[in-house]
Amino acid sequence: MAYSYEAPVSQSLFDRASVVTPGGVNSPVRAFRAVGGTPRFMVSGTGPYLTDADGREYVDLVCSWGPMILGHSHPEVIAAVQEAVSRGTSFGTPGEGEVALAEEIVARIEPVEQVRLVSSGTEATMSAIRLARGFTGRAKVVKFAGCYHGHVDALLAAAGSGVATFGLPDTPGVTGATAGDTVVLPYNDLEAVRAAFAAHPGEIACVITEASPGNMGVVPPADGFNAGLKELCAANGVLYISDEVMTGFRTSKAGWYGVDGVRPDLMTFGKVMGGGFPAAAFGGRGDVMAHLAPAGPVYQAGTLSGNPVATAAGLAQLRLLDDAAYARIDAVSAGLRSLVGEALTKEGVAHTVSAASNMFSVFFTDRPVRDYEDAKQQDVFRFTAFFHSMLAQGVYLPPSAFESWFVSTAHDERAVERVAAALPAAARAAAEATA
Ligand code: PLP
Repeated sequence: MAYSYEAPVSQSLFDRASVVTPGGVNSPVRAFRAVGGTPRFMVSGTGPYLTDADGREYVDLVCSWGPMILGHSHPEVIAAVQEAVSRGTSFGTPGEGEVALAEEIVARIEPVEQVRLVSSGTEATMSAIRLARGFTGRAKVVKFAGCYHGHVDALLAAAGSGVATFGLPDTPGVTGATAGDTVVLPYNDLEAVRAAFAAHPGEIACVITEASPGNMGVVPPADGFNAGLKELCAANGVLYISDEVMTGFRTSKAGWYGVDGVRPDLMTFGKVMGGGFPAAAFGGRGDVMAHLAPAGPVYQAGTLSGNPVATAAGLAQLRLLDDAAYARIDAVSAGLRSLVGEALTKEGVAHTVSAASNMFSVFFTDRPVRDYEDAKQQDVFRFTAFFHSMLAQGVYLPPSAFESWFVSTAHDERAVERVAAALPAAARAAAEATA
């Protein structure tokens, strides 16, 4: 595919990066390998906009893959960070900021009685499954194909996000023993869960599921799926872990739990709660969390866990996320979804705009998408054409057909109009694309 625009400074940075860093990036989906072309090196962000190293401005519909829910450089978040950083950057002792952030999480999300702060979503899910194994004395973990829970060895089997984007088989480096303890099931299929529980009686420690998946594109749970899962887990002594790294504090004040009210045993968080810094968490039932060191025997630790700058950023961001903020994000998302749908319909492009609260993505197929197999049936080549047309017109989408789009409170009318203006040509490009 030929690209009708250039990014010489990004290209030279990428050339330099490719010498010293595998693939030129520090996280695979940033590399544009699925869509081709030069990844944009961003130098600044303000509100709904990002500016790249070539001086071009984009409306950002990635929002750092979710965290920037108030837009970039929100003045109150920046002020909180500046205040925190002026007092030092890491003490390796407890601090008040981490208590306040934990209290904010516990106050917002009723099933979370206790919470432990960590530095990444991967660490949160890894620690949660270790805790589940320690608590139950069982080894096996059930996950769903297309769900991504970070690059935890045991959870990379049939994973979403970059693993889905690049169609990777289960990754080298994960031992057979680790993979053997992971049972992968099709999403939205309670019968498959029932059968797996029957096949492995007394062996399954936990089921981990994205509260509402966003890593195979947005594929919300079917009516009753999460509730049915919870019921099956409870009946079989299996812990139900709801991964809210992506949905937490985004899909409502209490994340996806605030949407469907299904009560997990453990939950994981990241992204929004760090305000753009590395902060994440896992928490849940007090009797389970009590098994964690130093209160209990299951070891888990982190030099930078509860870092004072990260917790200050996260707390400032969460405190600004009131009902009005969520109403605004929901409205922006709904508006954009109809604009995208109208543009694609007008050009006769088969598509499904799939939403879970304010998270959404576009599948280039008109067949229903209920699981990862369905998601893979879309015309990815149409997304590629659509993506590059939007990029050329100054709209930054996730560089993959298998990722959620994100908006923020900062996406105002002007930003939405810029997206709207880019859509007709992008829809045309999608219509004209060939496999
Ligand atoms: N869980 C979910 C649902 C995610 O979407 C992600 C990242 O996208 C993770 C876990 C891993 O988080 P991190 O990238 O912070 O390690």
